[in-house]
Amino acid sequence: MQALMMNTQLMISSILVHAEKNYPDQEIVSVTADNPRHRYSYRDFAKRSRQLAKVLESLGAKFGDRIGTLAWNDYRHLEMYYGISGAGMVCHMINPKLFPEQINYIVNHAEDKFLFVDVLVMPLIEALHASFESVEGIVVLTDEANMPQTSLDNVFCYETLLAEQDDDYQWPEFDENTACGMCYTSGTTGNPKGVVYSHRSTLLHALAGALPDATNASNLKTCMPIVPMFHVNAWGIPYASIMVGSKLVMPGPKMADGETLHDLIESEQVNFSSGVPTIWMALLDYLDSSGKKIESLETACSGGAACPKGLITRLKNDYGVDLMQGWGMTEMSPLGTVFSFKKGMENLTEEEQINLRAKQGRTVFGVELKIVDDNNKELPWDGVAFGALKVRGPWIATGYYGMSQEPGAADCPVDKDGWLNTGDVATVDENGFMQITDRTKDVIKSGGEWVSSIDIENAAASHELIAEAAAIGRFHPKWTERPLLIVVLNKDAKVTSGEIIAYLKDKLHKWSVPDDVVFTDELPHTATGKLNKLALRETYKDYQFPIE
Ligand code: AMP
Repeated sequence: MQALMMNTQLMISSILVHAEKNYPDQEIVSVTADNPRHRYSYRDFAKRSRQLAKVLESLGAKFGDRIGTLAWNDYRHLEMYYGISGAGMVCHMINPKLFPEQINYIVNHAEDKFLFVDVLVMPLIEALHASFESVEGIVVLTDEANMPQTSLDNVFCYETLLAEQDDDYQWPEFDENTACGMCYTSGTTGNPKGVVYSHRSTLLHALAGALPDATNASNLKTCMPIVPMFHVNAWGIPYASIMVGSKLVMPGPKMADGETLHDLIESEQVNFSSGVPTIWMALLDYLDSSGKKIESLETACSGGAACPKGLITRLKNDYGVDLMQGWGMTEMSPLGTVFSFKKGMENLTEEEQINLRAKQGRTVFGVELKIVDDNNKELPWDGVAFGALKVRGPWIATGYYGMSQEPGAADCPVDKDGWLNTGDVATVDENGFMQITDRTKDVIKSGGEWVSSIDIENAAASHELIAEAAAIGRFHPKWTERPLLIVVLNKDAKVTSGEIIAYLKDKLHKWSVPDDVVFTDELPHTATGKLNKLALRETYKDYQFPIE
């Protein structure tokens, strides 16, 4: 029997329509390159998003076109999240901090038609522009007074374009499975891979993310997403917060600046915020050295990398802030698990609570999770057995853009059983709390950013005195992980670790340069001749980086 219910499509624009009607006076506060404190209302935000939709059409962008954004967290980026997707185009968020070659690859692979870029990103765009294959124009996210000098053609000023349009625009309704957004993940080896989100997946993800046992989002809250909007939808906060009518505070390019973050929290009375552990470390260091407090902040959501227990303890004991850990992936929109108490747990001792918060959390409704052994046999949730972590659900990718969507295919992350293989290894306890114990992939995660061990090894191998090199991630109190380089020198060669690091500085991106180099006579290899990283991690498990 067929149900008798309306089949209205789940549209990104419906969030905006609802928000404007119900919370027109709610505030959005931003830091931008051209304004240290911009503030406007949901009413202005909705109006400008409609103007943006008209700008896109006037530029010649069509339904389904990819529109790249290289921008920080501010109101203009929020307008792009809604204006681009709402008009039926694909909001393709790009991390401006990637290697230029990666950005070039991503823009060409996604066939971006227009790029909307922050003023601070213009030098990079000028350097890369000649190799963009599909880009028809660049829109700079500022006003005329702050437009940078450029020799490029087809460069437009965002505010001028907006001013040329009125807001007489009706959001179109179309199939909810249409792509609304795109984000490339550079976590694995090889070229970055594109994850394509739909209106439906994004709406369902926002609903789940707003639940009381997830972020408990509400109109009564003030939320500051520090996690960048160029990385996996800023964890869905720009959708969930607007859906419920929260006040939003956006730190712009000042994401890692403890002083600015403190000032925003205090002056705007932020009570919920989200970021990678490195951000919380920067804020804590600033608070400790300045003696300042963050009275309004109740919850700090942390994800992207494991959160050290010491950080959770300091936040709670010194500043009264509860750390809520979450885990997910670009391929998962990203929400998979998040910390929340189960009945009775609020009576646990302080230490027991901190131990629980150090785990990666419990699944939210919508995400199914399992751990399996080498034979794909499901393992028990006993907190001891660990295995490959697999997930499935309506906001989890079926494959990458331009690659196979066939479960089990070599370039598809979904296994033959229809579950996405996360590449993480985990335990799950009796209460459903998941804990990441290892990664099947060898990338190093430093301050929430991926560092390719292979890039480091290749650069090191180019040194004339180095016979072989391996890079592994080791615990670092500030960055969670930093690269450690393990080197075998040519016979009788003499070189110091400092000289190797100086050599690598010319060859690698700043954050990929290893923090230390250790020497050994031989590196372990597998039967097929590959470096045995597992064995290396075991050998150096107690290694500590020199204190700066
Ligand atoms: P990305 O797609 O760049 O967001 O990276 C996803 C990967 O980051 C996951 O597969 C994990 O390896 C790692 N990750 C994310 N959140 C956490 C967390 N809370 N604890 C440990 N690792 C995490």
